[in-house]
Amino acid sequence: MPLIQLPSSLALLYPNRLWKGVELGRKVSLTFDDGPVPGVTDWVLEELAKRELNATFFMVGDNVRKHPSLAQEVLSAGHQLGNHTYHHLSGWKTSTDTYLKDVAACDAILEDTLGVQTSLFRPPYGWMKRRQAREVAKDKKIVMWSLLSYDFDSRLAPEKIIQVCTSRTSSGSIVVFHDQEKTKEQLKKVLPNYLDFLVGEGYSTQPLQG
Ligand SMILES: [Zn+2]
Repeated sequence: MPLIQLPSSLALLYPNRLWKGVELGRKVSLTFDDGPVPGVTDWVLEELAKRELNATFFMVGDNVRKHPSLAQEVLSAGHQLGNHTYHHLSGWKTSTDTYLKDVAACDAILEDTLGVQTSLFRPPYGWMKRRQAREVAKDKKIVMWSLLSYDFDSRLAPEKIIQVCTSRTSSGSIVVFHDQEKTKEQLKKVLPNYLDFLVGEGYSTQPLQG
């Protein structure tokens, strides 16, 4: 079983990043990375709406360009939007200058298409260079997570993912899913059960603090 929760030592190394939400009441923050993608994001919206849950969608700018009406649907449904770069860049493989331009390009398309200014940012693949992080953090909250669903690993049994996610959910958890083509099958097996668990256990969702 791969690592699902990051060790707290990592959170201590990067104290300025958001690793966990407010631990007040039974509330979690759901996050979806990489969309908007037709056939996945719209399905996620339905599953959330059925249970009156909210989430934050960390969007890839190029997907907003390709699917503006779907991005609008996410916004109209009352969810939060975050920046996930324009081209889903890996910070490690990209110069800081190029990286920052890509973050700005994602901001621009969110603003031009939806009129949204977001203060939330999640780095693709979870990592970026320290200098990139320092620059991005000047006007954004860098949002990490406390619980990674591993919906991207098709070798894992959905039941195992559900079991681990449910057993590790606690007040303030920031949970990561992916609304994209590669995770679609696994997500559709896992998400409804997980959302039912949240509702059944009396959890509600809370927005991330930007
Ligand atoms: Zn991503």
